[in-house]
Amino acid sequence: MARGTGSGRVDVAVVGGGPAGLTAAIYLGRLHRGCVVLDAGHSRARWIPESNNCPGFPGGISGDALLARLREQAAQFGARLERTTVTALQRDGGGFRLEDGQGRTWQARAVVLATGLADRLPPMEDVEAAIACGALRLCPVCDAYEVTGRRIGVHGPWAAITAHARFLRGYTADLALLPTDHAGQADDLPDVEVLPPGGRLEFDGVHCAWVVDGRCHAFDTVYPFLGCDTSAALARQAGVVLTGTGEIPVEPGQQTTGVPGLYAIGDVVSGLNQISVAVGQAALAALHLHARLPFVPRAPD
Ligand SMILES: Cc1cc2nc3c(=O)[nH]c(=O)nc-3n(C[C@H](O)[C@H](O)[C@H](O)COP(=O)(O)OP(=O)(O)OC[C@H]3O[C@@H](n4cnc5c(N)ncnc54)[C@H](O)[C@@H]3O)c2cc1C
Repeated sequence: MARGTGSGRVDVAVVGGGPAGLTAAIYLGRLHRGCVVLDAGHSRARWIPESNNCPGFPGGISGDALLARLREQAAQFGARLERTTVTALQRDGGGFRLEDGQGRTWQARAVVLATGLADRLPPMEDVEAAIACGALRLCPVCDAYEVTGRRIGVHGPWAAITAHARFLRGYTADLALLPTDHAGQADDLPDVEVLPPGGRLEFDGVHCAWVVDGRCHAFDTVYPFLGCDTSAALARQAGVVLTGTGEIPVEPGQQTTGVPGLYAIGDVVSGLNQISVAVGQAALAALHLHARLPFVPRAPD
């Protein structure tokens, strides 16, 4: 049971146990707030073979190792971690009621949504193995540095790949576009190769290749830009009016617009999907909601 709460009752329920949710739990524990982390266990960070831009890890750290450290640290400060998927979130009195698929419920004075997003991946066999070895990469800000000067393919709809190719051109002169829909004119990228559209990506255990018109073009790495699905459904259930593009609007301090006590942090709300952004938003949310909850003076020890 979380500290200072009854069974199923907590000060704060954090939905999602990736870097954002776990960092919020660390801060909340150190603010002496009872906290439960309800996590389905599919953090994007688990895909990271080795992160080299995560502050404080000069030799790099894998996503799994980082998550294990964060879980240990959150538990150290009293957070209760539960593996489950929250399926319903409603306002209830002055707080919130959460429910999972097994009919378990939690009452919380405040809720932090840290549910992240799901990448749309190419329909390719062994896609997880390709990500694990870096043949397929999903985030140039995260790891384009590691493939500086290598042969890179940029895959997806024409409009998306031309926008990202410019950024990647800063890392390599050996760049090719692999369009899913049509090939246009990349005017500002005259030296970038454009391969025929409509092919398929294949992975041979080491490299990804674009197979099109009977030819196989291999790359050191391929970045797909096929979009993503954010998990904003719980926010909508709780009464948040999503933006026209389906995003959760938040105020400074990460509180959602229009629903006091409900916060959103990390990839589910960020425009820059990075661990450092997620943990920064977690700190802001924890301090903001701590100031909103009733003040609890410490009893003499
Ligand atoms: C291949 C790859 C490499 C990357 N490399 C880097 C890097 O080097 N540096 C960097 O800064 N970033 C990197 N990123 C991005 C980074 O992983 C994300 O920015 C980060 O994980 C976001 O944290 P988050 O907590 O917001 O979301 P997530 O880590 O995705 O966690 C969300 C959690 O919420 C859970 N959840 C969702 N819905 C529910 C629900 N209804 N009930 C309960 N739980 C739920 C999910 O199962 C998941 O565990 C990389 C991403 C990928 C895919």
